[in-house]
Amino acid sequence: MQLDKSKILQAGKIASEAREFARGFIKKGAPLLEIADKIENKMIELGGKPAFPTCLSINEIAAHSTPSHDDKRIAEGILKIDMGVHIDGWIADTAFSIDLENDGENKKLIIASEKALESAIKTAKKSVKLSEMGKSIYNEINSLGLSPIINLSGHGISRYELHARVSIPNFDNSGKEILEEGLYAIEPFATSGNGRVHDGKPSGIYRLESEKNVRSPIAREVLKFIIEEYKTLPFCSRWLVKNLGIRALIGLKHLEENGNLHSYAELIESSGKNVSQNEHTILVEKDSVIVTTK
Ligand code: MN
Ligand code: MN
Repeated sequence: MQLDKSKILQAGKIASEAREFARGFIKKGAPLLEIADKIENKMIELGGKPAFPTCLSINEIAAHSTPSHDDKRIAEGILKIDMGVHIDGWIADTAFSIDLENDGENKKLIIASEKALESAIKTAKKSVKLSEMGKSIYNEINSLGLSPIINLSGHGISRYELHARVSIPNFDNSGKEILEEGLYAIEPFATSGNGRVHDGKPSGIYRLESEKNVRSPIAREVLKFIIEEYKTLPFCSRWLVKNLGIRALIGLKHLEENGNLHSYAELIESSGKNVSQNEHTILVEKDSVIVTTK
């Protein structure tokens, strides 16, 4: 598929600005709901749309935690802020971690995932083996006595498709696949635990899987809204409540029961240890690599 470079770069720029905005205002004790709203409003103000619900994952929750419409949780611990912007389906995906406890171990985790991301970006060029990139991530994290999360990975990105084509491993999986021209997200996770995640409770994040017919009128209305607004990108119950009111939750439930949706679970570090994450999106071209979310 032909890539729209100008939209890709613009989405990257907005994601980067929204990320730095978030870095500036997030404080311990701030309601997660408020943080997510502020970040997503900023993206819209800058001319983009959220490509997926802003994830605010605390401590041993590695990923996929987004506030519900009535969430009471506050920012604390080591917080991963994972956000995405799209323009006309062209996505920028970026994440950072902050330590809200002034904790030495948390800070070390963050240095590890930052350095791992930097190293993987340096390794990235057309035709390099994805396993080489994984190796550079592993080595950086391992050199600090920590582990990457090996069952989470970076990914190819296509238009309206957040996880496309290939995975970029966070260790040397000895795979033969190479980096082709195109759009990718690199996202190392570091932990002092055993380096795997398992599914936790449902996150309230969904993706449209089938447009098949559904009986109830409210479910039909919600389905129509999802198709028009989000297409095949992830969305969350909070967004539906915001746009369609609290009754949207009934439609959502019907759609889930009817098999229209894929539901994402929170991802929890298996040994319950803290996790950090850093992420950038890169555009790989014939002779260069552009970090779109720099
Ligand atoms: Mn991300
Ligand atoms: Mn990603």
